[in-house]
Amino acid sequence: MADIIQLLPDSIANQIAAGEVVQRPASAVKELVENAIDAGATVIQLIVKEAGKTLIQVIDNGQGMSETDARLSLERHATSKIRTADDLFRLRTMGFRGEALASIAAVSQLEMKTRLPHQDLGTMLVVEGSEVKRQEPTACERGTSISIKNLFYNIPARRNFLKSNGVEMSHITEEFQRLALAHPSISFSLLQQDELLYDLPATKLSQRIVNLFGKNYQSQLAPVQEETALVKVTGYIGRPELAKKKRGEQFIFVNQRFIRNNYLGFAVSNAYAGLLQENSFPFYTLFIDIDPKHIDVNVHPTKTEIKFDDERAVYGVVWSAVKQALGTHNLSPAIDFAADVNLMGKISSQPLSRDQYYDEQFTHALQRSNLQHWEKMFEQEAPHSRLIGNPTDEVRTVRKDSLINQPDSTLVSAGEKGIFQLQQKYIVRATRQGVMFIDQQAAHERVLFEKYLRHLKGAPGNSQQSLFPQTLTLSAPDFALTMEMEREIYALGFRFEIFGKNTLLISGTPADVAGSEKELFEGLIEQFKKNQSELHLPLRENLAQAMARRAAVKAGQKMSPEEMEALAGSLFASGNPNFSPDGRQTFFIFDTSKIENQFTR
Ligand code: ADP
Ligand code: MG
Repeated sequence: MADIIQLLPDSIANQIAAGEVVQRPASAVKELVENAIDAGATVIQLIVKEAGKTLIQVIDNGQGMSETDARLSLERHATSKIRTADDLFRLRTMGFRGEALASIAAVSQLEMKTRLPHQDLGTMLVVEGSEVKRQEPTACERGTSISIKNLFYNIPARRNFLKSNGVEMSHITEEFQRLALAHPSISFSLLQQDELLYDLPATKLSQRIVNLFGKNYQSQLAPVQEETALVKVTGYIGRPELAKKKRGEQFIFVNQRFIRNNYLGFAVSNAYAGLLQENSFPFYTLFIDIDPKHIDVNVHPTKTEIKFDDERAVYGVVWSAVKQALGTHNLSPAIDFAADVNLMGKISSQPLSRDQYYDEQFTHALQRSNLQHWEKMFEQEAPHSRLIGNPTDEVRTVRKDSLINQPDSTLVSAGEKGIFQLQQKYIVRATRQGVMFIDQQAAHERVLFEKYLRHLKGAPGNSQQSLFPQTLTLSAPDFALTMEMEREIYALGFRFEIFGKNTLLISGTPADVAGSEKELFEGLIEQFKKNQSELHLPLRENLAQAMARRAAVKAGQKMSPEEMEALAGSLFASGNPNFSPDGRQTFFIFDTSKIENQFTR
């Protein structure tokens, strides 16, 4: 067969590329204004007619172009902004792909006038669907003026696809606002159908916000300022009262580029947590400054998505910057700073203190009525009192010493009351009837099972808020299963929201359980499914059991004497201390009579 592959002509290749870069008039506005910013303009004028459908014109007083450059600027992959691939990681300009003008020129009638500052005459270019119709010298202002007429004139399908003038114009204003916010030191104006919509003098950020959004913002803003070795976060946030019913006035700029990033947006709303009414959205304009080598802008042709190499770190700084701004400007007296400090401590050191947990368990246990029963059980008889003077203490002392002298401390750990851990698996303790052995894991599962069952039956458990929420993508069936049990999982203490296809953003986990959000959630679902096939439990019992399984202390984990006491206490205060929820024995007592039998001659 003959060769059939051909290179596409430039005009077609450019049209295809235009599909990605130029979706609507607002995209052309963005590209042209960004070029003007990159050209060092201090004054940028935007003129549109019929919401950009018949005319988009951007006039700047930037560095202009030579005759040759003007011509070259319309070629694809023609750029003055990068020379090597490494430059991508040093990027400070808005553009770098060298395809915007080529794309726009492919789908419109374009006219360009441009002049270098030190030259008398400039050059004019007329282009139609990538084809240069005319280029000639012309008298013009220094800088560049580019007019885009009849966007998509040669692709009727795209042109018909455009929305009403109202809709397209609102896209343009949105784009204009972002650009103007990102560059308050540049003067911007927007003229629509001869009506001056915006006339923004060069100023500082706070004033630019007020000029764009209205005078009432003046008293409603709090400055944000936070700097670490990695990033700097500055900008302004609005008082909770300023929050709107519609998301919209929320801007995050990375190196002065507007970006969409749900994850960072979540960092901000998380910092506002508890201060806003449901479904209301706070105002914010945040600037994240970061060394370009830590980000990748080249994720999407429109460059509104970027990747950070350490997104979590940036999240943390944004969160705390906003939290601080809310606090120091006393935007809300309701903020509980003590709690925040704890949260920070938790994140920076260990996820939780098991001691605290057991303390709490133990106190609970003490409050229960059947505790007396348990205390009786532990009352030590003095069986040998007839043989030795003050036997109990001596017996105890001897045993304790002998235990401490054990060469391998992983074998046993002994407590004041003669409770000790054997092989980091069993809790051993003397009782009236003999010596009691408790399987630490089985016992803890029993205790936690009952606790989680209470959460599921109407007394929801506490949640610990994550400083770094994690996303988790599940298989479709697991996702469906999660949705089925959404309420129950919530009652256990998890907090999450849907975050894309089969993906959750987990922002809270059951209080007092160690482990990462992802690990805990995934573990819970896995265990639940395993139970489902093996145990045939009702849903709540299954979930409580699965959670208990995940959260319980494991064999091989060292426990302090206090923890062991507390666990034993909770076990005997539980409804069914004899068995773990899946039927393993939790303890047995080696009877004194058996001990005596061993010694009978
Ligand atoms: P990019 O901005 O990615 O480089 P563009 O297609 O948007 O690609 O622009 C191509 C080149 O044309 C730019 O690199 C720049 O050198 C030049 N250019 C475009 N617009 C202007 C302008 N308003 N003033 C000066 N030079 C411009
Ligand atoms: Mg550009």
